[in-house]
Amino acid sequence: MGTVVARTCVACGAEPEDPAALWCPSCGPEGTLDLSYDLEAAGAALRRDLLDPATPLDSWRFRALLPVADEGPRPPLRVGPTPLLLVPAERAPAGLQRLWVKDEGRNPTASFKDRATQVAVASALERGVPGLLCASTGNAATSLAGFCAASGLRAVILVPASAPRPKLAQLLCYGAELIPVAGTYDDAFDLSLAAAPQLGLDLRSTGVNPILGEGKKTAALELMEQLGWEPPEAISVSVGDGCIISGLYKGLADLYGAGMIPRIPRLIGVQAAGSDALTQAWERGDDAPTAISAKTRADSISVDLPRDGRKALRAVRESKGCFVRVPDEDLLKAQLTLARCSGVFSEPSGAASLAGILALVERGELDPAAPVVALTTGSGLKDTDSALEAGGGVPPAIEPSLDALLARLQQQTRG
Ligand SMILES: [Zn+2]
Repeated sequence: MGTVVARTCVACGAEPEDPAALWCPSCGPEGTLDLSYDLEAAGAALRRDLLDPATPLDSWRFRALLPVADEGPRPPLRVGPTPLLLVPAERAPAGLQRLWVKDEGRNPTASFKDRATQVAVASALERGVPGLLCASTGNAATSLAGFCAASGLRAVILVPASAPRPKLAQLLCYGAELIPVAGTYDDAFDLSLAAAPQLGLDLRSTGVNPILGEGKKTAALELMEQLGWEPPEAISVSVGDGCIISGLYKGLADLYGAGMIPRIPRLIGVQAAGSDALTQAWERGDDAPTAISAKTRADSISVDLPRDGRKALRAVRESKGCFVRVPDEDLLKAQLTLARCSGVFSEPSGAASLAGILALVERGELDPAAPVVALTTGSGLKDTDSALEAGGGVPPAIEPSLDALLARLQQQTRG
């Protein structure tokens, strides 16, 4: 098990005395906590475990850097390794020579969020907590519902009453207790902070419980292992609340501290132009974001006030990366480009990672010959309405005759 040696507030640097505190008592939920490990010991344990052919290929092989017991109970669903695909240079967009796609849609409930959920559920199982609660309308809620179903735990999900119905279908099938709240996502979020301790449930709302970032960092650990511990020039990922990019940074910083990688690659945070609170803060040189009124088709990254904003801004600053905003039409275009060059079908917010890379290459801020990784956060099947629109819609049916088929194919070739 990774021995956590300190829990430090990201806003004021204090170390809360209560080991169960989810955030800094002085700063409130904005004062999210960093977990620090004995990195020398973790590096030695990692090298030993990864070289042992008997070590199973799940996320728990990185347990020396995770806040879970060595042999504790685990959720039965396996997370990772997700595929890392190299797009052949002749098919890659914008002349990219070494574009890698890390396909996180291939996790058990088809999104990156399974990485955070697996550690949160393992911790709940270890401590005998009967279930978890979260406020979310999308992938985090679905992920929690699936892992709780597999582990025999209670899952309570608070959603704003206006939540899009397709996002709810999957979690209803998993048997989660779905509670619509008459209000906004932010209302549901604040209610979740009060409700979890009252109900004796662990909190899985994104961006506050530090254990979630520890789960998210397994993507960085796995990625570096897949690349033979040779960091790429940059890693690009979509950003809403900011907890994926900060989790990736935490994983890279831990690996660097443990002597496993020689440097930390640049992190590129990609935001929809209509939901760019962190890009604005980064341009102003601020340490924390201010709330905006977000509006974008990419609902997974539509956020007024990023809940893990401080850590996300730090991740980009300390990795010498950048934030970049892209209009919605470029997100949908990138969804097609990604699917057609790599075979990876991603939701629009996941394809933002590629849209950001393309924007930076066009501006001359990223060398197309350098190795770059686009991390896609969820399957395109999560949002079929957007996918149908991006793909140009289904053409009308033809008569079942060879003549009609040949005529249609000729017409489409000309079109
Ligand atoms: Zn604090």
